[in-house]
Amino acid sequence: MPIYLRDTDIAVLNALLKNGRKSLRQISKDTGISTPTVKNGFNRLVNIGVIKSISPILDLNKITYMNKSKNNKSRDIADIAAKYKQQLRQLQNNTKKKTNVQVVKGMAVNLNCDYCKTPLADKIYMFKFANFERFFRCNECKITYKKKYSGRIKAISKGSSYIRH
Ligand SMILES: [Zn+2]
Repeated sequence: MPIYLRDTDIAVLNALLKNGRKSLRQISKDTGISTPTVKNGFNRLVNIGVIKSISPILDLNKITYMNKSKNNKSRDIADIAAKYKQQLRQLQNNTKKKTNVQVVKGMAVNLNCDYCKTPLADKIYMFKFANFERFFRCNECKITYKKKYSGRIKAISKGSSYIRH
């Protein structure tokens, strides 16, 4: 059973799709949604796996190859140049064209149980620690997960991860 994206989620996603460098505080200013609500929304989107990562889009026209060493043999230079070309090709493959995609009202997220990986049912069992939220299909999954990862959960609860400002 997919869960609907909240209005806050939609606002945060669209702001970051437009500009991934935008601070959560700026998003709050632009949207009129309070900063804590924007922060919680962002953390939640990371937790449910909708935001996998935020990565730069490079302008590959700005990147070139320069031979630094004067004593390289011509064969070495050819090797380095070939390697450079290969890396650049990989970058080109990774750099997706910036399109004006938008998240719209009514979009929902498919969520699977964080323990047994089956799709979540109507009733969701949630477990929160630090900035993390985990979702389970049944209470047994939640209990087993907490037992299995108790060490890691304790360690994470002491310090907090991925707080954006
Ligand atoms: Zn489960």
